[in-house]
Amino acid sequence: MIYVALGANIGERAKQLLEAIQAMEKAGLHITKQSSVYETAPVGFVDQPSFYNMVVEVETTLSADVVLEYLQRIELKLGRERLFKNGPRTIDLDILLFNGEDIQSKHLTVPHPRMHERAFVLAPLEEIAPDVEVKGMTIRQLFMNLPDADRQDVVRLQTLVNLV
Ligand code: ADP
Ligand code: MG
Repeated sequence: MIYVALGANIGERAKQLLEAIQAMEKAGLHITKQSSVYETAPVGFVDQPSFYNMVVEVETTLSADVVLEYLQRIELKLGRERLFKNGPRTIDLDILLFNGEDIQSKHLTVPHPRMHERAFVLAPLEEIAPDVEVKGMTIRQLFMNLPDADRQDVVRLQTLVNLV
């Protein structure tokens, strides 16, 4: 299975998540499951609005490189500005897992190297894929291993249709 993380913290956050999902479907990235939306405190550069984050399960025959290319096109189309690392963004689309593949290329590292330490990724991922394993650990275990303070920075809102 393929899992993609979505995040937005500028403008109409829920609407941007929805637009990204619609653009993914249009590009042939078929969404088979989606998590609720979570409101999460920014990590790294903290003086910025909170994020809306979610995770979707995707079914496609496209390669990981092509999926990344499509996701980056969608980021651009939705007006993503890359101001600085970990800074505010209209939409961020990251590949978390890709059919159990281990990928390390110039453009792509999968599994996503920081997913195991990010509550804003693991909370929504646990909702739709608790038993999926990454390097011998289930998503549920990875989430439970996070510090309490990190897990409390992540608040489940509702499903996307209820928020837009
Ligand atoms: P971040 O998501 O870490 O905040 P960006 O979205 O600006 O940062 O991504 C920077 C680069 O990360 C992209 O140009 C892309 O080539 C690279 N990258 C490496 N691995 C991945 C991945 N698993 N998913 C998405 N982008 C990735
Ligand atoms: Mg990214």
